[in-house]
Amino acid sequence: MVKDTQYYIDGVIAGDRLVLARTITLIESSLAGHQALARTIIDSLLPRTGNAVRLGITGVPGAGKSTFIESFGTMLTEMGLRVAVLAIDPSSGRSGGSILGDKTRMEKLAVNDKAFIRPSPSSGTLGGVAGKTRETMLVCEAAGFDVIIIETVGVGQSETTVASMVDFFLVLMIAGAGDELQGIKKGVLEVADAIVINKADRDNVGKAELARKEYQAALHLLMPYSPNWTVPVLTCSALEKVGIEEIWQAVEEHRRALTDSGEFYQKRKDQARQWFGFLLDEGLKDWFYNSAKVKKTIPGLLGEIEQEHTSPTVAAARLLSLLDDTV
Ligand code: GDP
Repeated sequence: MVKDTQYYIDGVIAGDRLVLARTITLIESSLAGHQALARTIIDSLLPRTGNAVRLGITGVPGAGKSTFIESFGTMLTEMGLRVAVLAIDPSSGRSGGSILGDKTRMEKLAVNDKAFIRPSPSSGTLGGVAGKTRETMLVCEAAGFDVIIIETVGVGQSETTVASMVDFFLVLMIAGAGDELQGIKKGVLEVADAIVINKADRDNVGKAELARKEYQAALHLLMPYSPNWTVPVLTCSALEKVGIEEIWQAVEEHRRALTDSGEFYQKRKDQARQWFGFLLDEGLKDWFYNSAKVKKTIPGLLGEIEQEHTSPTVAAARLLSLLDDTV
């Protein structure tokens, strides 16, 4: 049952996990009434957001993301920090079963009272899912979480969307698999703030170190995106909890370097501006395709294109010209 706005606002501010979960459910709802309520709540909570470390993690299935987040998140909670983990799983809609819904993932963190784990909804467009993740992140910040970890599977285009909403984007790799095999595109390396070769343990230590050097060399060929930060390539063992602290140190150093130079606040501002543009793009598309006139006109135009009575260019221009009348 939907409660009044103040119930959600007060509950989130008090750090009440049940109310937090209910608020996220409202954010994820596709009902217009729920979305309007969620917007009001987020607007009221906005002054309390922005204080967390926003961390994005990507990597192909099997790279060790959940094992890493379990070890890393547990370490942070032992340092007294409160950690929220939001997981985007773009594959779940198609495969039917969500790999992120797997109960064995992050077993310890799931029962840790300083941690909060929330998988993102498994349906909808990536833009929709990511949009809800961004709003969920804000609500978690208002609830007092110190670190927000957004996990995304390194396939498709979700990585760059996540990279544009976090302060620090970590790409988790494994040795012995070529870039192609890992599905890691150059674009992902370009938005990485750190690359971590996981599973550097047992008889894999040498291979991991070799991979580390290779990535470091590859990174040298890329233009550094920031004059204030050199992207480190690190190794770790999420399973044996080796090298995990160094990764947190890198996150802290990055924040210091970017804050000192003023880049940090500029980055957050740019992200907000980018987000505004993104929402407008999404909204325009929705509004356009849902307009009765557009819906009525599209089938006829498609027919004309198929019969080669009209070119796609002319048909698209005609459809878009409907915008002139709708405004
Ligand atoms: P995800 O799909 O990226 O979330 O990967 P998982 O965390 O589920 O890990 C996939 C497999 O790799 C599991 O069998 C893990 O136990 C194993 N794994 C994860 N991290 C490490 C590590 O640091 N060392 C070793 N040896 N195995 C690991």
